[in-house]
Amino acid sequence: FRRNPGEAEFHQAVTEVFESLEAVSRKRPEYAEAAILQRMCEPERQIIFRVPWMDDAGRVQINRGFRVEFNSALGPYKGGLRFHPSVYLGIIKFLGFEQIFKNSLTGMPIGGGKGGSDFDPRGKSDAEVMRFCQSFMTELYRHIGEYTDVPAGDIGVGGREIGYLFGQYKRITNRYESGVLTGKGMGWGGSLVRPEATGYGAVLFTQEMLKTRGASFDGQRVVVSGSGNVAINAIHKAQTFGARVVAASDSTGYIVDEAGIDVDLLRQIKEVERGRISDYAERRGSKVSYVAGGNVWDVDATVALPCATQNELDDVAAKRLIEAGVLAVAEGANMPCTTEATALFQEAGVLFGPGKAANAGGVATSALEMQQNASRDSWSFEHTERRLSEIMVGIHDRCAATADEYGMPGNYVAGANIAGFVKVADAMMAQGLI
Ligand code: NDP
Repeated sequence: FRRNPGEAEFHQAVTEVFESLEAVSRKRPEYAEAAILQRMCEPERQIIFRVPWMDDAGRVQINRGFRVEFNSALGPYKGGLRFHPSVYLGIIKFLGFEQIFKNSLTGMPIGGGKGGSDFDPRGKSDAEVMRFCQSFMTELYRHIGEYTDVPAGDIGVGGREIGYLFGQYKRITNRYESGVLTGKGMGWGGSLVRPEATGYGAVLFTQEMLKTRGASFDGQRVVVSGSGNVAINAIHKAQTFGARVVAASDSTGYIVDEAGIDVDLLRQIKEVERGRISDYAERRGSKVSYVAGGNVWDVDATVALPCATQNELDDVAAKRLIEAGVLAVAEGANMPCTTEATALFQEAGVLFGPGKAANAGGVATSALEMQQNASRDSWSFEHTERRLSEIMVGIHDRCAATADEYGMPGNYVAGANIAGFVKVADAMMAQGLI
């Protein structure tokens, strides 16, 4: 930790993985001799750059850009870009570190990386977002490529931003290199199911966990945090599986809709109008309550899907959910549960799906997008969704089998960390001192 001062989220992510690896160290002492853990904690490369751009009033604005290329043992660096005012090196490193193991778990040939900026797209005009993205890519382009590093979206980076970033990459390089970014639009190299994949995947993973207790989504009362890309698609999939999703949130508050959230209306407000969750309550009228500044985890649930941001569900919220009888929790977001909350869920016997397994459907489908780009093909929705489903079942089964193998049955945290780690560690051992 002395090498990386002030990077609290990175420390948290590393600690969580290391705690799971004690059993591996006993079984595979060669990893310690080769200093695999120490090497994995040090990114292969990290780039920090100035992003100057001009706002609509003609004022010069400066943001900071990041790309951390963490580990390429399994394939080109792969991981999203986050645009949010809270972004700093510690956030990007935590996300990049998690991404190594998540990408390994998918079984696809992709390494781990992450990037972003402290730019806040909220309240900015389309023209401002475009100018920012163009400036960001004017530096980033020299570090990325189909065989090198393939960014995608994350918080604050959706289809609009990927479009502006791709346009600028193409303009600078004079190459139509579809495989350089994923999350592209359907008409220009994007993959069907990619927009839905993380949320759908989280629900598919949860469904597999529920099956181990003879349960399913049918009839569950579900609470989802956030109302962005992951949250909306998780709500949609959970409802198609027969659940009633009663609450969702954004950073200003949450809504409770006991009839079940109208996902088409939520999509229209958040994705088309770029509105707030409070607008949903206004449109639905008196049947829906809006709690400004409240914590969505005050709402009872049998299945909880945190899909907003890191450390949003703490020990107080975990105790409340356990008392209310929660059966399963799956992290649609990256590290949304604090270390204490995760421990409480596990001690209480709640089914707990960690983000690096439960939300891996997005990056797995990004890898499917890369496959389609490489073969200049485009697959149907049904075919791609079937692949996603197979991948999520595979990840679930790999986590469960690894947890069993290491004497921790039902511990998906340990299963995900160990299974993800061993594959990367073996590749690093085989590739020499890298
Ligand atoms: P979006 O930007 O589409 O949505 C994020 C949502 O979370 C918004 O509702 C936002 O509310 C809320 N939120 C963000 N920051 C905070 C905060 N500090 N406090 C409370 N609410 C907050 O992002 P995504 O849906 O793409 O990402 C959500 C999570 O899922 C992230 O952890 C991301 O890393 C993870 N993830 C995403 C993948 C993807 O494919 N998109 C893949 C794997 C993981 P508001 O609008 O008010 O800010």
